[in-house]
Amino acid sequence: MNSAETMKTADSVITATYKRFPVVFSKGRGATLWDPEGRAFLDFVAGIAVCNLGHSHPGVARAVAEQAKNLLHVSNLYYTVPQTRLAAWLVGNSFADRVFFCNSGAEANEAAIKLCRKYFSDKGQPQRFKIIAMERSFHGRTMAALSATGQDKIKKGFSPVLAGFDFVPFNDIQALKAKVDAETAAVLLEPIQGEGGIRCPSPGYLEAVRELCDATGMLMVFDEVQTGMGRTGKLFAYEHFNMVPDIMTLAKALGNGLPIGAMLAKEGVAEAFGAGAHATTFGGTPIVTAAALAVVTTMEQERIVEKCRVTGAYFKGRLAVLAKQHAIVEDVRGEGLLLGMKLKGDGDAVVKTCMEKGFLINCIQGNILRFSPPLIIQEKEIDSLVVCLDEILGTIS
Ligand SMILES: *Cc1c(COP(=O)(O)O)cnc(C)c1O
Repeated sequence: MNSAETMKTADSVITATYKRFPVVFSKGRGATLWDPEGRAFLDFVAGIAVCNLGHSHPGVARAVAEQAKNLLHVSNLYYTVPQTRLAAWLVGNSFADRVFFCNSGAEANEAAIKLCRKYFSDKGQPQRFKIIAMERSFHGRTMAALSATGQDKIKKGFSPVLAGFDFVPFNDIQALKAKVDAETAAVLLEPIQGEGGIRCPSPGYLEAVRELCDATGMLMVFDEVQTGMGRTGKLFAYEHFNMVPDIMTLAKALGNGLPIGAMLAKEGVAEAFGAGAHATTFGGTPIVTAAALAVVTTMEQERIVEKCRVTGAYFKGRLAVLAKQHAIVEDVRGEGLLLGMKLKGDGDAVVKTCMEKGFLINCIQGNILRFSPPLIIQEKEIDSLVVCLDEILGTIS
């Protein structure tokens, strides 16, 4: 199928839940994608912070091929080596003691929400079931995850949503304190809000949330589905702050493109998930965990997190210069290679023009350009995008 045929057929047989750009991709390598006709694009989206090691990373591809020859799937009724090794790596490299594997970010958050309820139920306090989440947050599209999401547009048409979620503005510790009551079980937040606009926490905010959780016995849940796996210049974003959460969810970059999610928790909390409490058929199947093991091994060998810190600082610096030169830019925000540029006007037109010039970026909340390239992006590739953006911003200022 050529691109035109593919788009025409897809638009007639696939649900229209995604408003797609008129391009088909058939090959990727590093930060470059190609369409079937051979046209190249430099990718600053990376499948929305998924392909951190770049497209079709040879190490990941090899691990998948090798594992596929031996065993794709059994069941979590049995043990497998890749799942065990990946869980041990995650435990060894985070605050957590135990891992529950699933297939997506929404499912990881679903597991976290269930674990919070089960934890208090097991403690004989089933009345403590409410979770305080943040305005403008994003936690996924399953019923519980969307109920926890602080954006009305995500919930529209799906009422009634799950009960037991309260919302407060991100970065407002007083509002959070005021919301806590005898029924509150947990606080759920992204350490840096992704879909909400690459919104960073104010100094001391997350530490203050941690203190509040300690004082009230609430659990602190971090959704690191977007910020995890090196994206912000630390393996996990919580490492930027002087605290650790009780529960953390991962997905996106964990498998560099294979569907895998994980919910990590401290021992005293994880024990509420005993035999039969929660399950999923494909969670941590050999093929996806073998891929994720190749991801974490490559990250260590190629010092990807350190690289991200350096390249991210370089990229942010170049964007800051653009912000000075173009009045249309309101600010530049983010950490590592999770960067945003807020415009005083519409961002979709900029995305479209970038694409016409061979660069993929995306726009969130209408006016915030998001840059989440593979963490292996090179400075010269960043330079070429900056030249392109400079030109475009110059024409719309
Ligand atoms: C993408 C995302 C999710 C949802 O992940 P899915 O794999 O699409 O279900 C949840 N939380 C955050 C912070 C995300 O960025």
